[in-house]
Amino acid sequence: MSFIEYETIDRVAVITLNRPERRNAQNAALLKELDEAFDRAVDDDDVRVIVLKANGKHFSAGHDIDPDVFNSEPWQSMFSDVDQNGMLKLYKWELKHFFGYSRKWRDLPKPTIAAVQGACIAAGLMLAWPCDLIIAAEDARFSDPVIRMGIGGVEYHGHTWEFGARKAKELLFTGGAIDAYEAHRLGMVNRVVPRDQLESAALTLAAEISQMHPHALLMAKRAVNQTLDAQGMSNALQTTFDTHSLGHANAWAICGQIVTVGLDEMAAANKKGQ
Ligand code: ZN
Repeated sequence: MSFIEYETIDRVAVITLNRPERRNAQNAALLKELDEAFDRAVDDDDVRVIVLKANGKHFSAGHDIDPDVFNSEPWQSMFSDVDQNGMLKLYKWELKHFFGYSRKWRDLPKPTIAAVQGACIAAGLMLAWPCDLIIAAEDARFSDPVIRMGIGGVEYHGHTWEFGARKAKELLFTGGAIDAYEAHRLGMVNRVVPRDQLESAALTLAAEISQMHPHALLMAKRAVNQTLDAQGMSNALQTTFDTHSLGHANAWAICGQIVTVGLDEMAAANKKGQ
């Protein structure tokens, strides 16, 4: 694996995003490796808790939209496919790799803890939100600025559930960011710690949880997630994924690409979000 590190510490699996030179921006290979790492942790009976953390200054700057990288990614082929098959290929790609991964990771049968520092932008949220607990460093910032690309929000609409309806609208409408303390006040993160204590705080919490019975942990997790789904979360996520896809279709109708700005502007908007 080249974009993900994996280790176990006692009963805790530690998965680390390891693409710091790109602010842990997500390409197709990173997402695939990350999914494989989660599977490995789930399949290891000795692992009770999973920690997701990131090397470098930033947790994740979202999907990698650097023009050079973007043009070499599998999803680039969708541009040439739209004329023949409409949005089908793009829809299926995002359904499996963006939306599908986040949905799967939310319901992994073991507790997960995200340790977030620096920028957590757009699809960065799609890594942090599916985790059961989030510990944020004081320098963490959270935003989904894809409104600047003509899209109403990332593929996994956790916003309303994580921020509350009023704040979700503000952040989506403006593309603005909140800091770690605001995220804590909103209930989006469990704890805020100094940057140099982030990893130890996550590992200490994971070690504490790992002492509990694994079946009891799973039932506790399912109780909360099933309650959210009984409130409509699962159905809402699926519906709002389609709403996201409508944004791509609208962009294509307007300008023949899946967002309403060029790749260079997309990259600039991404940096601005930090
Ligand atoms: Zn999309």
